[in-house]
Amino acid sequence: MTTQMRDALDRPLRDLRISVTDRCNFRCTYCMPKEVFGRDFQFLPARLILSFEEIARLGRIFVGEGVEKIRLTGGEPLVRRDIEKLVAMLAGIEGLRDLTLTTNGSLLAKKAVALKAAGLSRVTVSLDSLDDAVFRAMNDVDFPVARVLAGIEAAREAGLTPIKINMVVKRGVNDGSIVDMARHFHGSGAILRFIEYMDVGTTNGWRLDDVVPAAEIVEKISAALPLEPADANYRGEVARRYRYTDGGGEIGIISSVTQPFCGACTRARLSSEGRLYTCLFGSAGHDFRALLRSDKSDEEIAAHVRSVWGRRTDRYSELRTRATARPRRRKVEMSHIGG
Ligand code: SAM
Ligand code: SF4
Ligand code: SF4
Repeated sequence: MTTQMRDALDRPLRDLRISVTDRCNFRCTYCMPKEVFGRDFQFLPARLILSFEEIARLGRIFVGEGVEKIRLTGGEPLVRRDIEKLVAMLAGIEGLRDLTLTTNGSLLAKKAVALKAAGLSRVTVSLDSLDDAVFRAMNDVDFPVARVLAGIEAAREAGLTPIKINMVVKRGVNDGSIVDMARHFHGSGAILRFIEYMDVGTTNGWRLDDVVPAAEIVEKISAALPLEPADANYRGEVARRYRYTDGGGEIGIISSVTQPFCGACTRARLSSEGRLYTCLFGSAGHDFRALLRSDKSDEEIAAHVRSVWGRRTDRYSELRTRATARPRRRKVEMSHIGG
């Protein structure tokens, strides 16, 4: 039986995002800019990263406290060796309804079959443009679009469906790719989601002017492929849904900057070194690694989860102002907690 744990603003805890590594084989300019995450950057040593056993133990504890959905992320989750073993461990947790993973797709062609066999339900693949030059510049490691598309195809063949595609839109960088992306995935069964570029972390030089508002994205697509709003699938769904009027499927828009959704935010995030963040824009996090490596029982750790969640008052996006264009406060990096 799951408890009805609620935070200070009466929000339950339903989703847990687990970052399994702080490393990535891409250097997306909006997430891990090379100037910061260069050759000399010190990633976490293995001993400071949660083991699969530790992650699975925490996963069980969180599901016991009401979590229904777990998403693995990173960094790039598929660069963590034997990730499918972790998937198998999590897939066995009783009460977990949905186990998914967000990836840049670069290693998906190799891994899709093993991930499906281990019990992964589906995947979300990030892809910011179909224009090879634009995409190579955005991932900043010269990775070609064709290999991500091959990864998406492998995921489809393996049955990791419905596949979602995440496109972060940055003004003047890839906003010219919005309609091409919509056309490409229209009628494919994959759900394309457009994400407003966010002021996560402190290294990506975010400016409000770089954000393409959701309304503008919908207008652009609708002019080429008419759209109509669709109802949310469930309370707390982050993406606003729109469907093509010709039956070609649907898209989602994640408008955390222009239309924040903190009131329905049921998410917690666990970093690869075991810190729990109750908001994407958190700064410190709560250390669960120390608890896991102490003699605490599962029930004692569960009590700590309840205490952290019970005190939660986060609603950063709702409180965001133009002042965030020059952030003074240190915030956790996206590559640390995985979106
Ligand atoms: N490496 C994997 C990937 O790229 O899918 C998983 C981790 S990545 C941090 C998770 C998601 O966050 C990706 O879809 C990425 O595009 C998105 N993301 C990263 N930085 C962002 C930002 N500043 N604003 C909005 N989305 C961002
Ligand atoms: Fe890596 Fe994903 Fe961040 Fe890109 S968005 S740098 S693929 S973690
Ligand atoms: Fe949730 Fe924080 Fe994002 Fe608001 S800003 S939706 S509280 S993660």
